[in-house]
Amino acid sequence: MEKKQIDWDNLGFAYIRTERRFVANYKDGAWDAGGMTDDANVVINECAGVLQYSQSCFEGLKAYTTEDGRIVTFRPDLNGQRMEDSCRRLEMPVYPKEKFVDAVTETVKANAAYVPPYGSGASLYIRPVMFASGPVIGVKPADEYQFRIFATPVGPYFKGGIKPLTIRISDFDRAAPNGTGHIKAGLNYAMSLHAIVDAHKQGFDENMYLDAASHTKVEETGGANFIFVTKDQKVVTPKSDSILPSITRRSLMHVAKEYLGLETQEREVFKEELADFAECGLCGTAAVISPVGKIVDHGTEICLPSGMADMGPVTKKLYDTLTGIQMGRIKAPEGWIQEIR
Ligand SMILES: *Cc1c(COP(=O)(O)O)cnc(C)c1O
Repeated sequence: MEKKQIDWDNLGFAYIRTERRFVANYKDGAWDAGGMTDDANVVINECAGVLQYSQSCFEGLKAYTTEDGRIVTFRPDLNGQRMEDSCRRLEMPVYPKEKFVDAVTETVKANAAYVPPYGSGASLYIRPVMFASGPVIGVKPADEYQFRIFATPVGPYFKGGIKPLTIRISDFDRAAPNGTGHIKAGLNYAMSLHAIVDAHKQGFDENMYLDAASHTKVEETGGANFIFVTKDQKVVTPKSDSILPSITRRSLMHVAKEYLGLETQEREVFKEELADFAECGLCGTAAVISPVGKIVDHGTEICLPSGMADMGPVTKKLYDTLTGIQMGRIKAPEGWIQEIR
């Protein structure tokens, strides 16, 4: 298979239309067989549930080339499970996780020419999405849905080198107790846009959201979970029912314990503790981990001892080990790497 002529090193994170995508439609209480199509456009009725009442959810994962030249994805079964969970909470029909993984595989295979080569740092970003396509005007779940998976090549996250982030504690809330913070609903992002645009205007890279009920506990950012490292090298991640369960974060916690032999804790993390941590990072598919150098709490600066020049030492070890596992340089736990053949 011949690769596309793309300047892999200078790709950003923007949509580039590739040739093939997977589409399945739900009608009369059942999913059709689904299949690949060239059509990147969606035509839906003006009264479609997604347009009126935001009934939609999505996933995000990557395909990349390993050191020995295989094309792989990372734990796609967990994305399939999470999308099932999102669908149930939004009263959407579940697309079974086994079929989800098959559809991801088919989409990557059909776009293999767009999977960047090993060593470029670039990858093929895969975006599964489901939305209510049927018309609804009374407030209720729609009767018809579309499930679609497209792929777009994206560049290396740390292009100009690693730059630790400066984040602010936000006065806006991301997720309510007993709300939808734990599922990957498009609506969670719609209402975070104002907060992130405002953060950027004020010179911050990201928002740290606190729990909406008491504003005393750390939750996550708009699209990434936190991990912290204590001064005695424990790896800590916040526990809350309104955090989106990041697959990267869950994998990093496993790596910390099983590969690096560090003590790990998933527990409530109070804002008051932030100044005691040695390192802080944001975890998600896009960057694996982005180090945080500074947290600003309404004018008070909390400077992490790891500084503004590089990743902290434990963060770096976590990053190197997980990316090593993903790229096939380090032996992966059973079932983590799905080869596309
Ligand atoms: C997708 C997402 C993450 C990161 O999850 P990964 O599975 O690691 O990519 C974190 N927080 C939110 C709110 C998300 O939507």
